[in-house]
Amino acid sequence: MANTNLARKVDEDTYARLDAAIEQTVKANADRNDLESRFPRDNLKALAEIGWTGVLNEPQFGGLGLGHVDFAEAAYRIGQADASTGLVYVMHVGAAQTINLFGNDDQKERWLKANNGTLLGTYSTSERATGGHWWYNFSEASRDGDDYIVNAEKSFTTSSGQADFYVVQTRSPGAKDQADIIFFIIDGKAKGIESSPWQALGVRANHSGPIRYKGVRVARRDRLGAEGQGKEIIYDGVSPVYLIGLGAVWDGLARGVLNAAVAHTKGFVHKDRNKSLSDYQAIRQELGAAKVLVETLRPWRIELAARLDELWRAGKPQSEILIPLTEFKVHAAEVANKVAATALTVTGGYGYHRGPIERSFRDARAAIAMGPSNVIARDWIGKSLVGLPLELFYEGGE
Ligand SMILES: Cc1cc2nc3c(=O)[nH]c(=O)nc-3n(C[C@H](O)[C@H](O)[C@H](O)COP(=O)(O)OP(=O)(O)OC[C@H]3O[C@@H](n4cnc5c(N)ncnc54)[C@H](O)[C@@H]3O)c2cc1C
Repeated sequence: MANTNLARKVDEDTYARLDAAIEQTVKANADRNDLESRFPRDNLKALAEIGWTGVLNEPQFGGLGLGHVDFAEAAYRIGQADASTGLVYVMHVGAAQTINLFGNDDQKERWLKANNGTLLGTYSTSERATGGHWWYNFSEASRDGDDYIVNAEKSFTTSSGQADFYVVQTRSPGAKDQADIIFFIIDGKAKGIESSPWQALGVRANHSGPIRYKGVRVARRDRLGAEGQGKEIIYDGVSPVYLIGLGAVWDGLARGVLNAAVAHTKGFVHKDRNKSLSDYQAIRQELGAAKVLVETLRPWRIELAARLDELWRAGKPQSEILIPLTEFKVHAAEVANKVAATALTVTGGYGYHRGPIERSFRDARAAIAMGPSNVIARDWIGKSLVGLPLELFYEGGE
C-alpha cells in the first residue's frame, strides 16, 4: 500500500526524547536485565511513552508517521546501549508494520492505537520442524465456523510470553501447498499459549524462547490479510522491515562496543610506564581496523532504509531489495562480532569481566544465527549472483 503521507523530516525534540529514554532507561537497565534475564518491559514502556514504538504507524492511529530511515536510526541508537532491547524493539515495529501494510483500520485501532500505543507486538514464524527455514511452516490452521484454530510449535519468538500480541504465520486451513500461508494477530492473553523460558548465551533479556499455540481460537477479524496472502506478507511485510532493523541493531552494537573499548584504553594507565593503553601503537592498530569496519555500516543502512521509504511511498513491493537487505544483515552481523572481539582484545581482563563489553560479545553472536542465518543468507546472495531462483518453498530442498 502506498504511503503518500510519509514524513521526510523529524524534529530534533523527537530525537532528544529518544536519546533521553535510551540514556535514562535502556542503558541504565542493560547490565541488570542481562544478569537477571529480565525482560526490558520498562525500556519498551519508556519508548512507547514518547511515541517511538509507533515510529512507522500513521498519526491517525497514534503513530509518529515516520519512515525506515528514522526507524533504523532508532534501532541503531537503542542497539548501542542494549541489543536485547534493540531486538524487542525491532520485532515490535516489524509486527506493527505488517499490520500497517496488510491490516485493516479495525486492527490498527485495536492493536496499534489502543492503550495509547503501548501494546507490545512480535513475530512468531520459526518452527521447530523447519529450523532456520523460518518462512516454511508445517503447522496449519483449521476452521471452526467463522473462527480459526491455531496449533503450532514455534521454536523461537522474541518477547515470547511477554508480548501483548503475536503476528503468527502458519498454513491456511486445507492449504493447497506449502506456500499457502496465512497470518493472524493473536492476543498474548489467548487461552492455549504456552511459552518456555529463554536461557541463552546472549541477548539474555529478550525472551526469544519457544512458544506453543495449542488450539488457540482466533476470530476472523484478527486474520491479517487474506487466506493464502501469507507468502506476499513474508516477502513484502515481514522481511524488509525486519532485515533493516536487525542490521541496525548490530550496527549500534558495533559502535557501542567500540566506544566502550576506546574509553577504557584511553582511561587505563600502566603506572610503570606512565602510559595509557591507547598510547600503544599495537592497540591503536586494533582500534583503527575496528573503526573502519564500523564506518561501513552507517551509509549502507541509510541508503537501504531510504530505498525502503521510496518503495513504500510509491506503493511498490519492498522485496525488490530483499537481497541487498540480506547482504547488509550479513555484514552487520559480521562487523558486530569482529568489533566485539577486538574490544575484548584491547581491554584485556577488564573487558572479560561481566559488563557491557563481554555482554556485547555474547549478544553479537545471536546476529549470526538469526534468520536468515549468515550461512543461509550467503547462499541466497550467491544464488542471486549466478541467476538462480531462491525457491524458498520448493519441497525437499533448495
Ligand atoms: C535471539 C534470537 C531471536 C529470535 N527471534 C525470533 C522471532 O522473534 N521470531 C521468529 O520467528 N524466530 C526468531 N528466531 C529464530 C531465528 O530466526 C532462526 O529461525 C533460528 O535461529 C534458527 O535456528 P535453528 O537452530 O532452528 O536452525 P537450524 O536450521 O537447525 O540451523 C543450524 C545450522 O544449519 C545451518 N543451515 C540451516 N539451513 C541451512 C541450509 N538450507 N543450507 C545451509 N545451512 C543451513 C544454519 O545456518 C545453522 O548454522 C530467533 C533466534 C534467535 C537466536
